[in-house]
Amino acid sequence: MVTRLVVSLYIHIPFCKHKCPYCHFYVISDKECFKEQLLTALKAEWRQISPQIEGKKLLSIYFGGGTPTLFGPERIREVLSWFHYEADCEITIETNPEEQADYSEYAKIGINRISLGVQSLAEDELAVLDRRHSPQQAIDAIWAIKRAGIDNITIDLMYDLPGQTIESWTKTLSCIKTLPITHLSLYNLTIEPDAAFFRREKQLRSLMPDDETSAQMYALAQESLKNDGFTQYEISAFCKDNLYSRHNIGYWTGRHFYGMGPSAFSFDGVRRYRNVANLSRYCLLLEQNQSPIDFEEPLDAKARKKELLALNLRLLAGCDHGQIEPETEKALEYLVSVGLIERKGSHVALTKQGILFYDTVASELI
Ligand code: SF4
Repeated sequence: MVTRLVVSLYIHIPFCKHKCPYCHFYVISDKECFKEQLLTALKAEWRQISPQIEGKKLLSIYFGGGTPTLFGPERIREVLSWFHYEADCEITIETNPEEQADYSEYAKIGINRISLGVQSLAEDELAVLDRRHSPQQAIDAIWAIKRAGIDNITIDLMYDLPGQTIESWTKTLSCIKTLPITHLSLYNLTIEPDAAFFRREKQLRSLMPDDETSAQMYALAQESLKNDGFTQYEISAFCKDNLYSRHNIGYWTGRHFYGMGPSAFSFDGVRRYRNVANLSRYCLLLEQNQSPIDFEEPLDAKARKKELLALNLRLLAGCDHGQIEPETEKALEYLVSVGLIERKGSHVALTKQGILFYDTVASELI
């Protein structure tokens, strides 16, 4: 039997009603006039890349952004109509609680997973993040998604927020257990140079939890989610009932993925490349039948193997020792000796400490 190569698709829809000050993604304001332009350009891009996907199995399709539900179910339906996928394909769309999208329309067109940007369930923390929704709106959105018949619901939650305390974090975590979610991605706030928060970095940092409190918050989340029936399968990912994010697992296991839309990344096994992060330029290039790629990085086999090992280790199951190149053994030995990596039979995996200091592990290996 010939096994078909499995691949994923990512479609970047850059519209947001406003830009959150910590956001470093390519986002533009929500303007109706740009949407038909983007749809036309996406179709042209699909014509360019579809030969690379032909004959391969689409394991997941992910509409990210931005707030892709602002594109509307009709346009999303049209995009989906270009692809050939089977009934078991995971099809995710991101959205935000304040958008109050008509989730049943997304269920009707085949979306089977929704990713909701909850971030926090404390009013004052949402205000610091300049989010435009209340905790109650986030809770209502989750129940509305469930009522619309979409059972696979993932939320994003953030810690290390300015002014956040162990008490407020504990309260947020205990509220989570009452919600019908199947997956949770846990992030700590990072202040990136291209985000608005960067200009207030000093002031914000003075309000953020210290390293010890931050580690305590992470441990509390691990414990609370475990008690709620979640399995942690990656540094930042937790799921119930084996509903792992099929799409994200691809990033950690070296699956090929193809990105469409402005700023979208792709990886085809030998190179990583990115589309131009500018909607007008992206549309113009495609109108002229040119490639929208503006950055390309070839990966030699050795570099790729090292990078893949570091990515694999993000998964708590670890990776097979056979995958490790002889020249990486020394770095691995060192990481074992300092207690960041452990050997489990034929596998190597992060220790509890290694999960907290993953950046150190990755920098030793790459
Ligand atoms: S809603 Fe998400 S994508 Fe949009 S600006 Fe905020 S963080 Fe960025």
